[in-house]
Amino acid sequence: MDSYTTDAINIKTYPLSENDNIVIMFSKDMGLIRGIAKGVKNPKSKLGARMQALVANRVFLNSKRNLDIIKEASAINPFNKLRYNLDKLTTACYVLEVINTFCNDENKDKEQNEAIYEVLYKTLENIQNSKNKAQTTLCAIKFQLAFMKLSGFGLEFERCLKCSKKPEGTVLFSLETGGITCCDCSSGTTNYTRLHEKLRDFLVTLNKTPVDKETKYDSLINDKVADGCFNLLKKYIELTSSKKSKAAIIMEATKVS
Ligand SMILES: [Zn+2]
Repeated sequence: MDSYTTDAINIKTYPLSENDNIVIMFSKDMGLIRGIAKGVKNPKSKLGARMQALVANRVFLNSKRNLDIIKEASAINPFNKLRYNLDKLTTACYVLEVINTFCNDENKDKEQNEAIYEVLYKTLENIQNSKNKAQTTLCAIKFQLAFMKLSGFGLEFERCLKCSKKPEGTVLFSLETGGITCCDCSSGTTNYTRLHEKLRDFLVTLNKTPVDKETKYDSLINDKVADGCFNLLKKYIELTSSKKSKAAIIMEATKVS
């Protein structure tokens, strides 16, 4: 492949030299990719602002042995409105960080890449359009649930992981497994969080609803519930991410060459 075009959202940029930056992007076709934006720090650069984090572009890249070169970029959506609100910007940066730490470089699963790209794009749109802090956090919760499902680490709030029954009342949520245990099966369960029935209903509903669809909770959400759920899922993602990278290191170390 000498050159290629793909839709991509800028995740992170860092300096390579006096004039050039490296841009990490999540692309619709290949997942995480990296490219050099040459001369981007020059005020006359054609790439300029389009290479900032959060911008969605259609990019044209030249393949090189080490790092691809970004030749052209036309903006699809700069997501400008979310840059002027600190809560929105912080939430969007969290979402980008999850993508950056959790996704693998140049993933071959095209369907998975497309689905993650769609979830990421819609999440940034949702964050941009959210009306208050709780709603902004709700966008991130919807992202956390959808992203983990697409990555093969979906969460289970409806059925007990041990007996498969649908429990009523308060249950135990395990950060290790990402699922719930009913009270009958709870003996020996460690490292859990108590999940109240109402909170569980909320998570069950969100877990079933696509990120761009409204739920009955969208207008009711308050900061306390939003922050509680967000932090719980954040911990689950961090824990899963550390296990995942450990598994990758072991795989790499034991690879037969
Ligand atoms: Zn059970």
